[in-house]
Amino acid sequence: MKHNLGNYAIIALVILNIIIWLVFPPVNDGRPNFVRQYVGEVIGSTNIILMACALFLSTRPKWAEPYFGGLDRMYITHRRTATVAFLLIFVHVLTVPITTTNLSLGNYLAIIAFVGIVSIVLITLAPRIPFLSKLSGGTYEGWKNLKRFIGIFFIIAFIHALTIPDPLDALVAISWVQIFFIIGTVSYLYTELFGRFFKKFMPYTVDAVKHPNASSTEVTLRAKKNPIKKQRAGQFLFVRFPGDKTLNESHPFTISSAPAEDVLRLTIKASGDFTRYLFGHLQAGTNAVIEGAYGMFDYKTGSAKQIWIAGGIGLTPFLSFIRDMDGNLKHDVNFYYTVRHPEEALFRDEIEAAAQKNPRLKTHVRYSATDGSLTVEEIVKNAGGDLRNYDIYLCGPLPMIQAFTRKFQELGVPGKNIHYEEFNFR
Ligand SMILES: Cc1cc2nc3c(=O)[nH]c(=O)nc-3n(C[C@H](O)[C@H](O)[C@H](O)COP(=O)(O)OP(=O)(O)OC[C@H]3O[C@@H](n4cnc5c(N)ncnc54)[C@H](O)[C@@H]3O)c2cc1C
Repeated sequence: MKHNLGNYAIIALVILNIIIWLVFPPVNDGRPNFVRQYVGEVIGSTNIILMACALFLSTRPKWAEPYFGGLDRMYITHRRTATVAFLLIFVHVLTVPITTTNLSLGNYLAIIAFVGIVSIVLITLAPRIPFLSKLSGGTYEGWKNLKRFIGIFFIIAFIHALTIPDPLDALVAISWVQIFFIIGTVSYLYTELFGRFFKKFMPYTVDAVKHPNASSTEVTLRAKKNPIKKQRAGQFLFVRFPGDKTLNESHPFTISSAPAEDVLRLTIKASGDFTRYLFGHLQAGTNAVIEGAYGMFDYKTGSAKQIWIAGGIGLTPFLSFIRDMDGNLKHDVNFYYTVRHPEEALFRDEIEAAAQKNPRLKTHVRYSATDGSLTVEEIVKNAGGDLRNYDIYLCGPLPMIQAFTRKFQELGVPGKNIHYEEFNFR
């Protein structure tokens, strides 16, 4: 319940907005199309509220993580809120009466905001359309940079609302919406301008760089002064390396070391531009800047019987769990680690050693190319035939997470017992 409070709060704000417009309606001054303008303003103000919420979530407020179930879930809410806000723009434009004569500042600003927001969203929503994706640079960073301008059009959209000719006389409702304009604008300025003075960006140095196999890098980081606050095993951080132009992009990675260690270890799979370049170029002694730690993927809050499933590089939070154990595991865990080939499996020795030290940890390393894919039937059999009292933790490729989640739910595992780490923020 607590993990969804943030989502419920956003829905409550939308409902409250409608109630406020109904309880304090605008004065009907007998103008033509009064009702259309009234309904259009209710939709427009809902749009401002949702955009403000999306901009607020972009600030990555650490204190709000428990109300969404972690920063990764907050990003999902951000995405959904922004999508609904985007669709409402069209409903607003189709509802309000539009004049084509005597255009004023408010009308011009409406056109600028509409064209600006729609262009940015279409370009960022269309990475699969070759022509459109080229406009954003085709990369995640290009997409992120373009998305930055949305806040400017949010501000223009609000100034449009204040400068339209002949606005409705609805003091209470309009004052209430202004609160969200302030929240959205301050959030946007915080994210883009002055957040850097408040946020904890901690300076670190790369202590060591190793390659546990042909496609991954283990980076050890040591704090120059104060380390980041780590609360629990399995959390993640954002890291960039300012000394190198390519590596000076902030990317999220799980902290695969245990919270008690005096260094941070990251295990990074070379999968795209940044991570491949890091594999080939990152060296000990490089400066790093770290933001975090974030995340609520925590087996310790789960029930006594657990199943952990790691696919490929999805091993990293479990690695942190294992490194944190020290023979004191208080849960019965069946841990499945699946990779295609033996050479892809990371830290097998450590995983086996942890199982020896913690009799309640049963590990199953699976090579899908030779042994076939891991099946739910096998997991159920090893668990004694019934999964309903189990908490299940999953991390890996999204299709794997989705397929397992669906099957577990079909077998009666409640959704609240299935936990997964989302490795994708787009
Ligand atoms: C919470 C979390 C924990 C993660 N932990 C690990 C880990 O322990 N080990 C590991 O190897 N990978 C981890 N990842 C994935 C890792 O962040 C991406 O693989 C990496 O950022 C890809 O960058 P790229 O340029 O090499 O690949 P690209 O091909 O450019 O990007 C591939 C995908 O990665 C995501 N991505 C790219 N850049 C960013 C960015 N700056 N911020 C957010 N997402 C981005 C996007 O979804 C993109 O579509 C984690 C991701 C998240 C969200």
